[in-house]
Amino acid sequence: MIYFEIPNFMIKRIYIVEEDSKLVYKKLVDNNLVSLTEDELNEVNKYLKRNRSSKYYSEKLNTIIASNPDINCYGDYLKSFLEYIESFIPPQAVDTFYQNLQTLKLELNLDVINEPITDYSIAERRDAAYYDIENNVLTIDKDNIKQYQKIAQKAKNPQEFFWQNFNHDLMHELFHVASSKQFDNHFICGFDYRPATHSYEENRGLTEGFTEILACYAVPIENEFACAYYIEELIINQLMVVIGPEVMLDSYFNNSGIKNMAEKLCEFDPDFEAALNLFELIEVNFNLDKDSPSNVLAQIEITILYYFEEKIEKDILNGVSKDDILKSIEDYKRFLVTRDILNIRQENTRKYDGIEGVLKNFYQFESDVRERLESRKV
Ligand SMILES: [Zn+2]
Repeated sequence: MIYFEIPNFMIKRIYIVEEDSKLVYKKLVDNNLVSLTEDELNEVNKYLKRNRSSKYYSEKLNTIIASNPDINCYGDYLKSFLEYIESFIPPQAVDTFYQNLQTLKLELNLDVINEPITDYSIAERRDAAYYDIENNVLTIDKDNIKQYQKIAQKAKNPQEFFWQNFNHDLMHELFHVASSKQFDNHFICGFDYRPATHSYEENRGLTEGFTEILACYAVPIENEFACAYYIEELIINQLMVVIGPEVMLDSYFNNSGIKNMAEKLCEFDPDFEAALNLFELIEVNFNLDKDSPSNVLAQIEITILYYFEEKIEKDILNGVSKDDILKSIEDYKRFLVTRDILNIRQENTRKYDGIEGVLKNFYQFESDVRERLESRKV
């Protein structure tokens, strides 16, 4: 006989029996199964339906939020961010996130919103928002909030503009919280490992760019191109068309560095050292002076383009459909660095020697592939 018990319920045991091909609840009275009263049935239904809301969440996350007053005081507002991030993390890496959340301190400085904008002098712009791994503190800078309020005044919908940018920054830092840990005097954030023994362990540019991609995915902003890590975002998106997002998400949240990604690139060219060098160049480019000429970015783009061409070659040989191949090419094209992008960002274009050459190579490759696909017998 099928039965279940409800803690502290007026009936000891509820039985489920089939009557006229339908399942009904019964109770045992003097060794006979009898129907429940209306009140009893209501209680049973209430108990069985207690979790039926449109919200799905992890109990673990709920418990942590409830135990950390710094997070709990923001209630559902912050919870929705944390649930979103949790859904991205591979199961074997999620403990880092939970552990950091347990003791996370938040300095969101939202009280500054009520101060008049004009009374607030914005100091030399510091880091707008940051996460301090050592002390597990997430800060959104007061100046940053005031800056957003000021720019928002010119927007069509100032409230929406402000919260979009604030939430975006908060999401970026929360992704750092989810992907950072420290041990043995080492600080690991995403793909970045400090202090490093090998140069390929330092991947701050890659980490910031990828974090920003995740934050933009979660909270899109209108002026994404103005973001400090936009060039890194473009490079990483190119890379993701080649190796896919899974290996990147896995390496980022598991803090396993860039080796798995380099190995993935070896599917298209087996030179492992060359793949490591690509990541080193991405880091070099990230640290370069913004005004000094360099062709490092062009070299990075040419290298990723080379892997992309090898991937497409492989796809063609493996009989991947024309539509899918052309879709990859269109995806890739969206992420190329162009002069227009540099101009919008008001960047010193001398810094990016050689990017025209990359574009030329790309368009030549695209037209070759299209021609081959046209002439391919279907
Ligand atoms: Zn960051």
